[in-house]
Amino acid sequence: MCGIVGYIGKRDATPILLEGLRRLEYRGYDSAGIALQSDGKFQVRKKKGKIDEGLARLLASNAIQGCAGIGHTRWATHGPPSDENSHPHLDQSGRIAVVHNGVIENFERLKERMIRDGHKFVSATDTEVLAHLIGEHYMKVKGQKGDRHPLTQAVMNALREVIGTYGIAVLSVDYPGVMVGARRGSPLLVGVGEGEHFLASDASAVVAHTRQVAYLNDYDVATIEAGRFDVTSLGSDTAKVQISQLEFGAEAAEKGDFAHYMLKEIFEQPRTVRNALRGRMDLEEGMPKFGGLNMTTAELREVDQIVIPACGTSWHAALIGEYLFEEFAHIPTEVEYASEFRYRNSPLEKHTLVLVITQSGETADTLAGLRESRRRGHKVLAICNVVGSTIAREADGGIYLHAGPEIGVASTKAFTSQVSVLTLFALMMGRIRMLSNSRGMHVMRALENAGDQIEKVLEQNDAIRKIAMKYAASEDFFFLGRQYNFPVALEGALKLKEISYIHAEGYPAAEMKHGPIAMIDEKTPSVFVIPSDGMYEKSFSNLEEIKARKGPVIAIATEGNARIRDRVDDVIYIPAAPEPISPLLSVIPLQLLAYHIAVARGCDVDKPRNLAKSVTVE
Ligand code: GLU
Repeated sequence: MCGIVGYIGKRDATPILLEGLRRLEYRGYDSAGIALQSDGKFQVRKKKGKIDEGLARLLASNAIQGCAGIGHTRWATHGPPSDENSHPHLDQSGRIAVVHNGVIENFERLKERMIRDGHKFVSATDTEVLAHLIGEHYMKVKGQKGDRHPLTQAVMNALREVIGTYGIAVLSVDYPGVMVGARRGSPLLVGVGEGEHFLASDASAVVAHTRQVAYLNDYDVATIEAGRFDVTSLGSDTAKVQISQLEFGAEAAEKGDFAHYMLKEIFEQPRTVRNALRGRMDLEEGMPKFGGLNMTTAELREVDQIVIPACGTSWHAALIGEYLFEEFAHIPTEVEYASEFRYRNSPLEKHTLVLVITQSGETADTLAGLRESRRRGHKVLAICNVVGSTIAREADGGIYLHAGPEIGVASTKAFTSQVSVLTLFALMMGRIRMLSNSRGMHVMRALENAGDQIEKVLEQNDAIRKIAMKYAASEDFFFLGRQYNFPVALEGALKLKEISYIHAEGYPAAEMKHGPIAMIDEKTPSVFVIPSDGMYEKSFSNLEEIKARKGPVIAIATEGNARIRDRVDDVIYIPAAPEPISPLLSVIPLQLLAYHIAVARGCDVDKPRNLAKSVTVE
């Protein structure tokens, strides 16, 4: 959550920061602002609202220039979205400017003390307190000659007093051409250019200028100038810095001809699912293979329980994983909300494998779950998308999705890629136990087909849009499915809630009669995921129960099932696939339904209210 970008070099910083913020806007869009160093003072422009409606307009009428600056898009935690609460924030003297992602937990105590000392605050944010704290330390070390740059020293001294999480970029008017960045719990990287450097909370903000980045670790403090940067650590004497090459270019983070990122990402799924599988299937042996698990077959065989902490859409993918691990490998599996798991004292048996799932690799709760599990001596593997992210670096091993940047706040392609690699990993856990070669081959062949089958579902986009228009005015929805398609139902409901703000509930279809069926009436549609699988007859009875109460039903059924047309209001067909593969197909119409309903209701699909991507706060 929240985007940070900083620039230092010879070019005009304003367009670079503005463009960087636009690319980060999916991380927060309550307000945006920039501060530039020029002629011994700061020029600050900040505005409530989305960039194009706020900051960009302000800059158009009130331009600023300078070759060093910092920018921020906010997802408010302390203080409502407003011009005053927008970042950057200045210190008491007006000589320090700060942008911040995260939460300063002890800000109230610090603020009270500073107010007693005569500080004046203009915002309700925790960040302004941090700016004042850095300013206080800065006044003490300014002008001193030491091993470190005074601004770096001031930032380090201030951060030693802080409890909480931060990714920050800091400038001082006294040192033009120096920018300091630091992180704990919130992502930050240095973009390395020719005669220019950048700071950013994610690579999409800098990829148009450089593909060379250095990911900072927790407690790292970076001092950045146009021609060089160095990193020191608050936690230890040495900081490890490694420059990595980004694997995607600027175009991967653009929406091309699509109206929204979300739609583009839905349509990318045939390719992203193939990417998730590429090079990972030995069809002869019916055996999946992964490069980065860093666990021997013997260690993997010892695993007798799997716990999967995750959040949101990743949590739904994890639920499908639970069915997969139990079916393929007979390993008892528990899926946990990472936000609960991190504080619970879950008794994990000795040979428990903890498998975390996160698109961004930065999700704060999931990261905390990972750290707690490792502290207890468990192996932790991560399934994540963003290469070089904190979780990817801190896990013992893992599997990348290779889905490319996911910008739409409502996750789509990450979900199908997560399910694809979970299927392969569960298959592998099965194959090193009791699953036969032929079963392995069978599942892999079906997976190989999935990309083409998703294409066939996407061809029905127009028909799905028409169905969406028909139901767009509904105020309540149910999403129902059984077994592998129960988590798909949950995911369909979440998509609708996230982007159209319609109340929606996902349920195992047979659970309806235990209470929720009381909600069904002619105005409450149910989206029923009912492929022709082993559960079909049972599911069909549940569907009849809905119809008997006059509930409209949109069925997601298998091609060739003509009979269902007579019993439901609308049908979307998906190709036939083995049960464990069907979520990869059945989720596609649900993503499209949610998308078209949100568009029909005039909602901002890529920037839904109250949300932001990559949840880096607790
Ligand atoms: N806690 C800060 C604020 O509310 C930063 C929030 C963010 O990460 O955007 O302003």
